[in-house]
Amino acid sequence: MVLAEHKGNLLGLNLEELEKFAVSSGQPKFRGRQLYHGIYARRVRDLAGLTDLAHEFRDFVAAGYGIFYPQAERHFCSLDGSIRYLFRLADGNLVETVYMPEEDRITLCLSSQVGCAVDCKFCFTALLGSKRNLTAGEIIGQVLAVAAGQNVPRGARLNLVFMGMGEPMLNLPQVLKAVEILADPKGVGVTLRRITVSTVGILPRIKQMSLAPVRPKLAISLNASNDEQRTALMPINQKYPLADLIRVCRAYPLRQWEHLMFEYVMLEGFNDADDDARRVADLLQDLRAKVNLIPYNSGPGLPYRAPRFDRVLEFQKILMDRNIPTFIRISRGRDISAACGQLSLAESGQAVANIG
Ligand code: SAH
Repeated sequence: MVLAEHKGNLLGLNLEELEKFAVSSGQPKFRGRQLYHGIYARRVRDLAGLTDLAHEFRDFVAAGYGIFYPQAERHFCSLDGSIRYLFRLADGNLVETVYMPEEDRITLCLSSQVGCAVDCKFCFTALLGSKRNLTAGEIIGQVLAVAAGQNVPRGARLNLVFMGMGEPMLNLPQVLKAVEILADPKGVGVTLRRITVSTVGILPRIKQMSLAPVRPKLAISLNASNDEQRTALMPINQKYPLADLIRVCRAYPLRQWEHLMFEYVMLEGFNDADDDARRVADLLQDLRAKVNLIPYNSGPGLPYRAPRFDRVLEFQKILMDRNIPTFIRISRGRDISAACGQLSLAESGQAVANIG
């Protein structure tokens, strides 16, 4: 008998890999499809629940393998209904996932890496530095573990945003593999149009994603109105400056229904002036773009502050007057350090321990 922690994890394998697994175990190929259906569509966690598998094969699989979700070590409940999950991965690392229920839908904010390598000066995840990429299984596991914890049924109106810890474009193969399984109607079954990947603008990877057969929506963290400002806030801008970013955005093959989403964190006194808004409007002029303004979420250790709300409204008006659809996103879960940019494994908030 193999100890549970030494067993292989089937979560994260795609259909082809599960079929290969079945064949290499001396089984017909279709057993792989049965496993795939069980793991992702039926969300079975105990191999004993895979009653459609031949008995012997099931016992053989169960002896060496399992379907292991990340362990929800703690969760923190916000007064606004959102919940921040702290997941422990098999190697002991921690990542965070945020569950945000709304009236007619649920949004899950997913992590793609443990920590982050990009070093944006205003972001709390950056303070952790970069540890490693998540596997597709660890990404899908965040969705299935939260869905199980919150009783989110298959078929619920679910949005997935890769806006948690990490820079998804620096882990693109695993992110895309996860998206394929998540968006597969025969897999987890989330609508592809409801999956968004957000990036600081790693240009070669944006081009690569544009060619993906199963392509999520693209969001770009703009956060500044000129190069000097953007480089000060996001050193990656030195490598991929604004003119290049906008050029790649212009060439990006948007589908008929699609807009590019630009996120703009508003930092008082840094990037929130009327002139900034005008420059942003100039930059986005001939793109099919939407803008999300995110008033800064503050926290210990970083000097920035959110502007007054009337400043945010003024900024929005300037963009709207230039025909750029602009929304103000008040982050959820501020009271539990779950808001945009706050994911840093904080031990604060109303903790509920050991929920399994
Ligand atoms: N690395 C990717 C995915 C993370 S998305 C990216 O940057 O796009 C997280 C979003 O929150 C980004 O748009 C980022 O600019 C924003 N953000 C980071 N720190 C923030 C903070 N303290 N307050 C508000 N938004 C923040």
